[in-house]
Amino acid sequence: MEKLLKLKNILEEVRMINISIGQLSWDQSTEQPKLARGEYSNVLAYLYGKSHSLIINDEVRDIINSLKDDDSLNNIDRAILNELKDDFEKKEKIPKEQYEEYARLQSLSTLAWEEAKEKDDFEIFKPFLEKIVDYDKKFIELIGINGHPYNTLLRDYEKGLNVDDLDKFFHTLKEELMPLVLKASSVGNPVFDFEHKAYDIDKQRKFSRFLSEYLGLDFQKAVLKESAHPFTDAFSNKDTRITSHYHLNKFLSSIFSTAHETGHALYEQGIDDEIAHTILGSGSSMAMHESQSRLYENIIVRNKNFWVPIYDKLQAIYYDNLKDVSLDDFYRCINKSQPSLIRIEADELTYPFHIIIRYEIEKLLFEDKVKVSDLPEIWNEKVYEYLGIKPTGFSDGILQDIHYSKGNFGYFPSYALGSAYASQFAYGMSKTLNLDECLLQGNLLKINEYLRRNMHKYGKLKTSKELLLEISGEEFNPKYYTEYLKDKFSSIYK
Ligand code: ZN
Repeated sequence: MEKLLKLKNILEEVRMINISIGQLSWDQSTEQPKLARGEYSNVLAYLYGKSHSLIINDEVRDIINSLKDDDSLNNIDRAILNELKDDFEKKEKIPKEQYEEYARLQSLSTLAWEEAKEKDDFEIFKPFLEKIVDYDKKFIELIGINGHPYNTLLRDYEKGLNVDDLDKFFHTLKEELMPLVLKASSVGNPVFDFEHKAYDIDKQRKFSRFLSEYLGLDFQKAVLKESAHPFTDAFSNKDTRITSHYHLNKFLSSIFSTAHETGHALYEQGIDDEIAHTILGSGSSMAMHESQSRLYENIIVRNKNFWVPIYDKLQAIYYDNLKDVSLDDFYRCINKSQPSLIRIEADELTYPFHIIIRYEIEKLLFEDKVKVSDLPEIWNEKVYEYLGIKPTGFSDGILQDIHYSKGNFGYFPSYALGSAYASQFAYGMSKTLNLDECLLQGNLLKINEYLRRNMHKYGKLKTSKELLLEISGEEFNPKYYTEYLKDKFSSIYK
């Protein structure tokens, strides 16, 4: 057990470094003065290098090898060891210098992306993106999972998932959902005058905070700040941080961004103390994480019953804009299906097509069938192919999401998978509690407790596969997602 203790000490040191990395990155996105940010890319690179060398060395390799067949480990230590072994096997193939250089590049590239997006100029970002893609390709060669090069990228977000699974999944979504998208398009939507009126930014901030608390986030263990692209960071189950964004004429965007990030943060707050400070103390996978954020954002906050107890509060805050808007109209407006350019503002029905567009482009890129310089044009073609509309520039096209600046290729499918998991979890949950009733009563606690007890507390102790099976009684099945969307939108569009 001496070795196990030694290993735990090393992992604790790595955790401390990772907290520093996380806090610095959080700071970079929320607080740092614009001109100070490039300064920290070296600090980040140094810290990444440090955490790499703490793990990737002969001592840790020996410990892993000597413990891997040790039957005396309890289930938590066993899971920690397996998680570490996976991470070790991946990282040992990447030389430390490249790992550091990549971290520096990610940080600078994010700054370039921000500027490029602001100025609507792809050329500012292009050289950084080219380097990022070159690195990712190099890492794929070094790490190399069998089959399609994209499989290696997917491993970071959902272990075991491959291109064949995704091809099948997206094929099903296209077959099942496209007729519905076309139908909704032909029926059309009423005009909602209130939607794009001016909504005081300070009131938006206040309502976001209220919403997040109402959903159950414990603000003794959380903060809510602002950033260009909303996101969640968690340093432990007692330090979860979310951001939202506020636009004068788009108040709904802040509501759904806040709901989404609150879902992520509730997941992190729900992790058991016993594993919270170990490498198991985070969401089971990125797709699992997105299942929770999308569950709160859509299945809960886009549900009419959710608004019944609090709609008068929303009306009171925005009295001038909403006093004559009925809950029915508000509900219809927040569930209006309409092809749009921005993924994070898309309705539930057209959303998966935003993901399919990104998935197909990324696959082409890593199959070496297209170059970085071709991306804006291919992006626009795909948007037209699937959504029938054309971006007006780069900012509402290829530059809209932060992910590529950080090299997060393979991430986007997690959103679609997560949405599908969410529907399957909601089905499982319906066996023991009545979601609509809870929402009507404003009893979010009951829902949160269910999710905590059955999912959140386990962190990485259970895989998404295990959780889906335990909760719904069957393996992943996209039917729950497509049926949910068909039911909901057939009823809205008659
Ligand atoms: Zn998310």
